[in-house]
Amino acid sequence: LKKDRILSLKVDCDTFEGTQKGIPRLLSIFHEFNVCATFFFTLGPDNSGRAIRRIFTQKGFLKKMLRSKAVSMYGPKTMLYGTLLPAPRIGEKLAEVIRSVEKAGHEVGVHGWDHVRWHDQLDKLTEEQIRRDYGLAHQTFENIFGHRAQSSAAPGWHITPLALKIQEEYGLLYTSNTRNGAPFYPKAGGIKFKTLEIPSTLPTWDEMLGSPDFKSPEDFLNFYGDLPEGVSVHSIHTEVEGMAWADLFRKQMTLWKNSGVKFAALEDIAKELLRNPAEIPGRQIVRIVIPNRGGLITSGTPA
Ligand SMILES: [Zn+2]
Repeated sequence: LKKDRILSLKVDCDTFEGTQKGIPRLLSIFHEFNVCATFFFTLGPDNSGRAIRRIFTQKGFLKKMLRSKAVSMYGPKTMLYGTLLPAPRIGEKLAEVIRSVEKAGHEVGVHGWDHVRWHDQLDKLTEEQIRRDYGLAHQTFENIFGHRAQSSAAPGWHITPLALKIQEEYGLLYTSNTRNGAPFYPKAGGIKFKTLEIPSTLPTWDEMLGSPDFKSPEDFLNFYGDLPEGVSVHSIHTEVEGMAWADLFRKQMTLWKNSGVKFAALEDIAKELLRNPAEIPGRQIVRIVIPNRGGLITSGTPA
């Protein structure tokens, strides 16, 4: 008897345009395939222009970005937010579209306040700054939905012992801050944290779209279609799968559905695991390199 292949789609909403345009498109695709996903929202200022400016300074990166349609992925406005254009507050301006996600039956959680700041500067932020940004994200979430968030996912899979300590105070059901491997209780700085961590297990589309290994869109879809048995967690992005590459993502959903993949929200995976918390291992937090992604990413060591 073949074990089930279960896929959790974790939707990271990073930018104003991705939230505004990518969310409705993804909701319509998920509705078409009758799939529940888990959305994590960035709720503060969109300073993407500051991050995207890096493409003009990083050698080799622009070529990759062009190959993977990055310029159409991040529209002209997004490329200027936080630089020539003021950074729009996503949660304030787009509360209606954000609320529509939960109304459509999906799970909702906190991604962050200022995505660019967390991603680029987390190691340098003081405890007070992290507490403020993380708190603002949760407060805005509660203002929008009328209830507290039960989960959060760190921007750029970037987490530190200090940030874990602050997150722990929120008594969340789980977090999804890291990459690779099975769910675990994070250990860092001599502390074993009590909040369950569920890592993303697959490489993201924006990491793989530029890869010369794929000779055709079919190759690419088959790579992602070939899921291992058990639970896989896949991070997708509103700007990628919900905008520039939405048609290809629809094909991917068709392939998964036709090959018998079952879908589950991350909260369902968490609740199932937490029925036997003693069986969840502790893993030390480390930084790793992920192919085709700049900087260091947080992961757990093998149990
Ligand atoms: Zn993100």
